[in-house]
Amino acid sequence: MFGFLLKKLSGRHYRKFVAKCRPVVDRINALETEYQSLSEEALKAKTNEFRERIAAGATLDELLPEAFATVKNAARRLCGRSVMVCEHDLVWNMVHFDVQLIGGMALHEGKIAEMATGEGKTLVATLPLYLNALSGRNCQLVTVNDYLARRDSQWMGHLYTYLGLTVGCIQNQMSPAQRREAYGCNITYGTASEFGFDYLRDNGMATRKDDQVQRDHYFCIVDEIDSILVDEARTPLIISGPMAIQREQPYPRLKPSIQRLVDEQARQCNRLVGEVKAVLEKADASAEDRADAFHKLYQVKVGAPKNKLLMRLMETPEWRKQLDKVELEMTSDFNKEANFRLKEELFYIIDERQHQADLTEKGRTFLKPEDPDAFVLPDLPTLFSDLERDHALTPEEKEARKRTARERFEVVGEDIHAISQLLRAYSLYERDVQYVVTPDGKVAIVDENTGRLMPGRRWSDGLHAAVEAKEGVQIERETRTYATITIQNYFRMYTKLAGMTGTAETEATEFHEIYKLDVVVIPTNKPCIRHDENDVIYKTRRSKFQAVIKEIEAAHKAGQPVLVGTVSVEASEVLSRMLRRSNITHAVLNAKFHEQEADIVARAGQRGAVTIATNMAGRGTDIKLGEGVADVGGLFVIGTERHESRRIDRQLRGRCSRQGDPGKSKFYISLEDDLMRLFASAGPLARIMEKSMTEDEELAHPLLNRSIESAQKKVEQQNFSIRKRLLQYDDVLNKQREIIYAIRNDALHNDEPRKVIFDMIGEEIANRLESAGFGEKGGPVPQALEGLVGWLNIHFPVGLHAADFEKLPAEEAAKVIVGKIDEAYTMKESAENRDALLHLERYLVINAIDNHWQEHLTEMEDLRKSIGLRSYGQKDPLIEYKSEAFRYFGELMDNIRVQICTSVFRSATNLIALENMKNMLARSARLEGPGTPQAAAPSGSAPAGEPAAVEAKKEIKLPVIQVKRDVPKVGRNDPCPCGSGKKYKNCHGA
Ligand code: ADP
Ligand code: MG
Repeated sequence: MFGFLLKKLSGRHYRKFVAKCRPVVDRINALETEYQSLSEEALKAKTNEFRERIAAGATLDELLPEAFATVKNAARRLCGRSVMVCEHDLVWNMVHFDVQLIGGMALHEGKIAEMATGEGKTLVATLPLYLNALSGRNCQLVTVNDYLARRDSQWMGHLYTYLGLTVGCIQNQMSPAQRREAYGCNITYGTASEFGFDYLRDNGMATRKDDQVQRDHYFCIVDEIDSILVDEARTPLIISGPMAIQREQPYPRLKPSIQRLVDEQARQCNRLVGEVKAVLEKADASAEDRADAFHKLYQVKVGAPKNKLLMRLMETPEWRKQLDKVELEMTSDFNKEANFRLKEELFYIIDERQHQADLTEKGRTFLKPEDPDAFVLPDLPTLFSDLERDHALTPEEKEARKRTARERFEVVGEDIHAISQLLRAYSLYERDVQYVVTPDGKVAIVDENTGRLMPGRRWSDGLHAAVEAKEGVQIERETRTYATITIQNYFRMYTKLAGMTGTAETEATEFHEIYKLDVVVIPTNKPCIRHDENDVIYKTRRSKFQAVIKEIEAAHKAGQPVLVGTVSVEASEVLSRMLRRSNITHAVLNAKFHEQEADIVARAGQRGAVTIATNMAGRGTDIKLGEGVADVGGLFVIGTERHESRRIDRQLRGRCSRQGDPGKSKFYISLEDDLMRLFASAGPLARIMEKSMTEDEELAHPLLNRSIESAQKKVEQQNFSIRKRLLQYDDVLNKQREIIYAIRNDALHNDEPRKVIFDMIGEEIANRLESAGFGEKGGPVPQALEGLVGWLNIHFPVGLHAADFEKLPAEEAAKVIVGKIDEAYTMKESAENRDALLHLERYLVINAIDNHWQEHLTEMEDLRKSIGLRSYGQKDPLIEYKSEAFRYFGELMDNIRVQICTSVFRSATNLIALENMKNMLARSARLEGPGTPQAAAPSGSAPAGEPAAVEAKKEIKLPVIQVKRDVPKVGRNDPCPCGSGKKYKNCHGA
């Protein structure tokens, strides 16, 4: 009763939106009736008429009713036509329903339209896509896989092309030229990762404007948006290549000892749990012994949470309750000591909920008996302040000791991190559940939602290498990141983002907070008559599966099709074996190919069909009922476990009862399911667990559904805060990427890339003047001034003397210097080929950015890894990370500027110009370089400093080396960067 009221209230703002849309729907339908009497030409002419009106100032909002009516009328005119979709002939039979018009309006307003499965979201998207594409900008639709992108673009393409719009589709194997053409269309379909990778290639890798393929990030509709923005968003898109220098990986070295440690702990936990069992089964055990037993059991739980005998003991509700109690007690401050003591008897402890693993003192001693401190991080702040106070040391000695401590910190930190990753790999990651080892010896992640393998994806932070070490397979070479972005940040770039899915409501807060997207629930076209039965709870997984098989048998006999959802591939296989034993024909969905998968799912509604699929498999395909199936109750959906997130369960239920069809859904649960074990130990559930249940006893009550849902909510919230936290880290890099890509694009698109170069030079000069002491009271420091003059003359053929600017204020001095450089550059230009020079200038900037940005990405990754360790010092790691990242970024910009300054006069579009330049440079360096008599500062300052002289000598040799680096790295078949128009291999690359 109360729940019903809440539901009514929470739906209020959706109803408001729908009510607001009603009059517009009437207007659209009235217009559409009018259009029915138009000639075909007259209807088609609407598209250009709208475009002209937009050019004359009309807004898209004003045009909405007419545009939607035009699309709907075009759909009507297509009815009965045969259309080709993915090599199949289909007959077009769709005209937009009213609720679809409302969905279209929600999308146009940049909202998420929650529309149940089978409501025709594919068709809904045509309305806002047509309207927004009238603006001339590229409108995009994101699907969950390549197959659906192809299917939907071809299917809906008939409607778009009828109205004179162009539509394209991005597929994985397409060439850049094909991609550019597809993005050039009015409307483009594709997957999130194709779009994201194209963005990264365009902005992080393209060295010419013509290499860029995307033209816009304007309006984008994401289909199955929850799957893409919530489930997929956890792994960032990364473009990487082999690293030039391979670092030594700590995992193979540490593995043997960790393996021994894990075995040792397993033995210890087995012994403990055996002792516990003996005590618990003894009828006359004293209260003291029993209490002691539960403390031991607690140790087993933190030492080996997946211990088989522990799991078995937990089937007795009474014992389970006792253990929960001990666990709860141990979290209280009062028991801190005792908790610590129990944990210290183990070698390491595992926090299953937080997915953490940590060595104990005992574990450290086991690993390094002679030096247990080998795995303790040095306390740098204390150490440093002690050093500062130690007056017996010279400053040099202090520095040296600090350096040693810092190096030790790095080395120890890396080992601690690697050990903790190995412990996680051993204790929490199970082969064939979280990952599989492929026949060619690779560790492939299993997508927890679809059960599909994700080849090529790797867990971050060294976890993947740890699992590889555990499995004894080859550890993949470390790679260097060229470009990376998270899916979240990619989609935040769009001017207008919208989405559709059957299940968004439970994640509404997340969509709002992270993407500023509001969810509206659109009513179904026909009332949904699906019957959701109460969850049934069993004691063990075994009894649960047996009950499921019985249920399937019964339905199968009656001819009712059954779709069974599982949470893992392993569970699918167990069920499939059991069904085979009962001689029930069935299909198991573990297809590697989306098209095949779609095919199997589509057949799941046939009479008597039994289909087993992991929960998310087959998204985007619609299950139509076979003949006579409605009479036997429609499709029956069985869930074999509640998922961590309610959304995934709703998605599974939603697979039946589409468009007013009959159907029902039911979930089977056992007390051994992860969700129950970890999160449902409070409320009515706990009371049930107390009550002794027999093996095959089943329990069902609406109250139970509620408390399972509240356990799910807990997990959802936890996962959301993890994602939000990750995003906060990611935001830092995202801002940096925006700045870098903006400069890079400026260099690529600016008609005068020379300006970008001179901006950089100007800034660098200003910085150097400032650090030389310009603008300060006493004026520049003589030695620094000398260094500056030396630096200038090495890199720029300007023949400057300190006297030329030393008395000037900073700004004036900068003007003089930059003016000289500008003059020299103009002279250089006269010897160069104009067009080739433009290309070279762009390349200078891009090359400098790419070199240092990629290095920066690696450093930021390392920073991210080490920041967790630093948080030992009570500081918020995020704040630490931000301030370090800020410093790194400053260094990055410095490095980029310096590389540009040093290479601008050391590269040329042809060899003669280059030789000239080199001679000029050498002359100017020799003439004015520090360490030569002429360089001595006029105002009687100290003689030329030794370090500067060394630097100068080193640098003077550089041109020879630099020449190689400054010639663009081009493919042998690419056009030569000198602009000759010949292939590189036939020109400068010969
Ligand atoms: P969703 O993505 O919402 O689950 P789909 O776009 O896959 O749904 O469409 C489901 C089915 O409904 C498709 O077979 C489609 O042809 C049909 N359909 C959609 N809209 C209409 C309509 N207005 N009239 C008739 N059939 C429709
Ligand atoms: Mg769909």
